[in-house]
Amino acid sequence: MIRFEHVTKRYADVTTAVDDLSFDVAEGELVTLVGPSGCGKTTTMKMVNRLIEPTEGRILLDGQDVSRVDPVSLRRRIGYVIQQVGLFPHRTVLDNTATVPALLGWKKHKARERAAELLDLVGLDPGTFGHRYPEQLSGGQRQRVGVARALAADPPVLLMDEPFGAVDPVVREHLQNEFLSLQATVRKTVLLVTHDLEEAVRLGDRIAVYGQGRIEQFDTPAAVLGAP
Ligand code: ADP
Ligand code: ADP
Repeated sequence: MIRFEHVTKRYADVTTAVDDLSFDVAEGELVTLVGPSGCGKTTTMKMVNRLIEPTEGRILLDGQDVSRVDPVSLRRRIGYVIQQVGLFPHRTVLDNTATVPALLGWKKHKARERAAELLDLVGLDPGTFGHRYPEQLSGGQRQRVGVARALAADPPVLLMDEPFGAVDPVVREHLQNEFLSLQATVRKTVLLVTHDLEEAVRLGDRIAVYGQGRIEQFDTPAAVLGAP
């Protein structure tokens, strides 16, 4: 579903953020990218939806070179969740969730209907929360809206950058569990960035363990934990 072929990214032609990465992610697989800050995880992820262009190599999405796919079409195919969710403060939860369908030209009532379904799916009652504004939610609830928004256009691929990083440990564990059961239903192809090995192990079908700019190990949680 996602294939990296010898992908290198150099910023301003000096910092080599990622160096000659090659790997495959299967359809419906959840791969966690784990490693210390600055090792290239976010750079890896942002090249998939073309927020960053590789310096060398290419990335295939369903066999298609993403550098040849236009950004609107990528938005339809790839949902994106970041740590500081980035909800629009002056839009309600419902309208925030309907952002991508609206951008894609869905009729307003269709987009809202879809948004309400998604809020339900992430455990937020649309009747209770749909008309609130982001500041009227807890941190955990905002993250759920972020996930709902990313799923709204039903993209096959989900990119998640520290999606549970901004909440306290108890809420985080709760959100992780919710996300696992959600993933069991929707089976997206997921890349999830975290600096937390425990999270990487809990969530990942496979784990990409980063060293500086490189993936040092790419294996199942059991194999990663079993490594010396
Ligand atoms: P991580 O997500 O693992 O924390 P990043 O992919 O954000 O790592 O960063 C990898 C390296 O690239 C770091 O050394 C970082 O300082 C550098 N870097 C990231 N973004 C930029 C940028 N826009 N310009 C220059 N250097 C950058
Ligand atoms: P958590 O610890 O779960 O992240 P908070 O302590 O931030 O939650 O909020 C607890 C409850 O109060 C939540 O159900 C949230 O919806 C509600 N709440 C938080 N802030 C507001 C607000 N400004 N207006 C209305 N309800 C709020």
